Amino acid sequence: MRLPLIAGNWKMHGSLQSVVELSKALVGWNPESKAEMAVCPPSVFLSVVAKELQGSSVALGAQNVSEHQQGAYTGEVSGDMLAELGCRYAIVGHSERRALFAETDRQIAEKFIAAQRAGLTPILCVGETLEQREADATLDVIAEQLGVVIDVAGLEAVAKGVVAYEPVWAIGTGKTATPEQAQQVHAAIRLQLGEAGAKTRVLYGGSVKAANAAEIFAQPDIDGALVGGASLVAEEFLEVGRLAAQ
Ligand code: PEP
Repeated sequence: MRLPLIAGNWKMHGSLQSVVELSKALVGWNPESKAEMAVCPPSVFLSVVAKELQGSSVALGAQNVSEHQQGAYTGEVSGDMLAELGCRYAIVGHSERRALFAETDRQIAEKFIAAQRAGLTPILCVGETLEQREADATLDVIAEQLGVVIDVAGLEAVAKGVVAYEPVWAIGTGKTATPEQAQQVHAAIRLQLGEAGAKTRVLYGGSVKAANAAEIFAQPDIDGALVGGASLVAEEFLEVGRLAAQ
């Protein structure tokens, strides 16, 4: 039995005031619930959000983590620092980091290892571009992105993390993969993870909101969602959580 996870990626949105308000609106999430909720605020707001979430069952995550443990890496944040602030999760390899910050599969694998070394659970993002989907290369692209992390970190380690399938063309566009398209990729990911993957949570991400979440969550290999835009609206995000808990 895999406990569904709904993780909100707040990206570079919000202010001190708005993240406090959003956090306050989420703390009532029912601990009895059959789904776990997490939020990933901008790193400068992690401590303030941690304080607001204290005593609640909403987990804290980071949007990124350095592959290095410590040292002269200006602007970077280490896994140990994130763990000290109370993070349980760290997103690694989000498509925006791959595309805008030139993160490579190898670097993402090292970030995955760094997160686990610090006691965090990495949420490893994989996903194809529209051109790759149209060229019928989706499954190859996902297998390659996941394969590099498996090669570098090891299969057992990857299976202990969370994988998020996020088609790049569905992120922030209002377009979602059909439940069948998503399920096909999720099943392939689970197959690649082998026996250990039976327990791995594989999330879907790409314009998930309350109106489309139920049909996505109905798929057998989809264990929740990584939510961008809709996670910035407390009631919408909570509703996605409730749908995952059903
Ligand atoms: C994301 O950035 O991980 C994401 C899924 O964004 P959105 O839900 O806005 O498409």
